[in-house]
Amino acid sequence: MNQRSLSTFLADFVSLFYPNLCLGCEGLLPKGSDYLCPKCHYNLPKTHTHKLEVPQFREKFDGVIELAHVLVYAHFFKKGLIQKVLHHLKYGNQPGIGEMIGRRYGGELFEDGFAGAFDVIVPVPLHPKRLKERGYNQSEHFGLGLSRSLSLSMNLDTLIKVKHVDSQTRRSKLSRIKNVEGVFEVLDKDNLRDQRVLLVDDLLTTGSTLVACLEVLQQCEPRSLSIATIGGAK
Ligand SMILES: [Zn+2]
Repeated sequence: MNQRSLSTFLADFVSLFYPNLCLGCEGLLPKGSDYLCPKCHYNLPKTHTHKLEVPQFREKFDGVIELAHVLVYAHFFKKGLIQKVLHHLKYGNQPGIGEMIGRRYGGELFEDGFAGAFDVIVPVPLHPKRLKERGYNQSEHFGLGLSRSLSLSMNLDTLIKVKHVDSQTRRSKLSRIKNVEGVFEVLDKDNLRDQRVLLVDDLLTTGSTLVACLEVLQQCEPRSLSIATIGGAK
């Protein structure tokens, strides 16, 4: 076990007994704060892509798929706050983190004129095997928070993952794209017809997973497609 995984392991172990510590600074959480203290919330490296587009995120989809909105809550940096948060969300059995961030982000979107911008939220699905191992889909919980703040419904039974693929993180860009071919399917093409669909995921890196989902969602002939993620890496 290397130093990093040992410290992550210890942090996870400690959080079993002291669940009221901030995921960012590991200080005691004040009453009423969930997962992050007010200071760490304030220090989140937000992108504000809903106010001003960040070209590095949008250009991952240029020439590939047309998107109405590319919404990224915060910048993902190695060893940064969002990496910590996403680690706890995915591997720490803490799905509530996704909902908390979704609620906050949805609140900001609501205030900035996105209240009527979408018709339905579709989370990037997990393969049933992975869902069974983890017990929850982290993207679905992020979507749940967004759906509450924006008063949107969530569609969980149209986009499905039919092939289990191993981790994408060590693959080259081309091999990531090849790796996700045929991985997602839509069950009922009539479900999202003429809807403004917001596809949500935890992290935007190369965009290959999101593109694979968006391409199959196009079979439903939606009115428009957009994406929202918690983190975005340049
Ligand atoms: Zn903190």
